[in-house]
Amino acid sequence: MDKEKKDNKNNLSNQILNNIKASKDLGLLRCVQCGMCTSMCPAAKHSKYNPRLMVEKVLENDENIIKDENIWNCFYCYTCHSICGVGNSPCEINQILRQIAIDKKQEDKFVNSLSSYGDSFMEIGIGGMPKSFFMQLHEDIDGWLDLKSELEDIRENLDLGPVKMDENSIKEVRKLLKHINFEKRLEKLKSQENKLKTNNSEVKKSKKGETQ
Ligand code: SF4
Ligand code: SF4
Repeated sequence: MDKEKKDNKNNLSNQILNNIKASKDLGLLRCVQCGMCTSMCPAAKHSKYNPRLMVEKVLENDENIIKDENIWNCFYCYTCHSICGVGNSPCEINQILRQIAIDKKQEDKFVNSLSSYGDSFMEIGIGGMPKSFFMQLHEDIDGWLDLKSELEDIRENLDLGPVKMDENSIKEVRKLLKHINFEKRLEKLKSQENKLKTNNSEVKKSKKGETQ
């Protein structure tokens, strides 16, 4: 294989299109940069994240996008996926970029902060908002904590089933998670998280020492 062909095969667009997480008909190369995804993206509304720009960088094979901290603001609501007129999915592309960042060990601090989502699967069998986000949500959304504490009653009044799974179902989920080594991976993630915290506090201490 000559060098140009090999480079093409390994460029960012092709890495994404050939990734196992990419849909077979992912319309990355059909993106017309219309910006609809960004205009509807809730993460773009509240942060510097821009799905259209992310796709543009991928099409330009600009690998700096892998290191861009803004890509960690997407929370996979799939609005962009459903709105795109050419069948592209910034959401899927984002997932693959993050996986590349993880494989390159570039973004441990973001991955580690997500370990509490894993705890939620182990504890209640479904994903849930990490407790560490509660106070921030309370500050951002008026009445959020009240809604959270009264959610089960509100659902009952609306004749909706409980959010919580029953104990047997939770046990089943735990069994499955153990079977796929989810628990071990979660423990690994947490030990990395603790190491990172220790390193950060040591850096802070030494900086404080320097300024005294
Ligand atoms: S991904 Fe789709 S919606 Fe977003 S800029 Fe490209 S064509 Fe437009
Ligand atoms: S999935 Fe991510 S990029 Fe797409 S609209 Fe939702 S937050 Fe934005």
